[in-house]
Amino acid sequence: MSCRFDLDHYHEILDAARVGGYHFKPFGEGPERGDLFLRHDIDLSLDAALRMAELEAELGVLATYLLMTESVFYNLASSEGAAAIARLRELGHAVGLHAVYPTVEFDDRFDPVVSWHNPEAEYMSEKVSGAVNVYADPYFAPPTYRSDSNQHWRSGCPHEELRGGGFPWLQILVHPEIWVYPGATMAQTMRAMLEAENARRLEQLAADGIHLD
Ligand SMILES: [Zn+2]
Ligand SMILES: [Zn+2]
Repeated sequence: MSCRFDLDHYHEILDAARVGGYHFKPFGEGPERGDLFLRHDIDLSLDAALRMAELEAELGVLATYLLMTESVFYNLASSEGAAAIARLRELGHAVGLHAVYPTVEFDDRFDPVVSWHNPEAEYMSEKVSGAVNVYADPYFAPPTYRSDSNQHWRSGCPHEELRGGGFPWLQILVHPEIWVYPGATMAQTMRAMLEAENARRLEQLAADGIHLD
């Protein structure tokens, strides 16, 4: 099995988790043996989040999507943002807040779950009152945490250990953008995302009555 960052291998990782006997859980429960907390921090693209969410729903997988209210890449308050949250809910996923420290403002769009965007070590694991901080006890410890940051698994792709039941439980951070858009490197993948974004912007302009040809 080759550990590409694409939806085929993502599907294989989810299958491996199922074979290993893991159960997909929302933050707020556990962690108990066999729990898998599948977390998506949405930094760049709601479209990528929705593609991944649809695949997971087809496979009966529950994930937690953490969305930004302060992103420079997407507007959660737009009709597009509202539709994205509605669809994630409809598919049965949890929706929390991907916050820029120190601002944590929950409203009824979010479950009380927070992850920090680009956190610094000194505050990362502080308790957040009234909410689960995914970087704090009891959910965060290096042996039971894997992240795909910038198309690089710091401790290796987890598919083999998942298949073999090697983790007592696991929190796994997956950024949809780097799996949904094609590319063998982070640079290629980001260029593919920008091309898709350009096409989306042209459609938005057309919807606003602005045609370029
Ligand atoms: Zn793999
Ligand atoms: Zn982030």
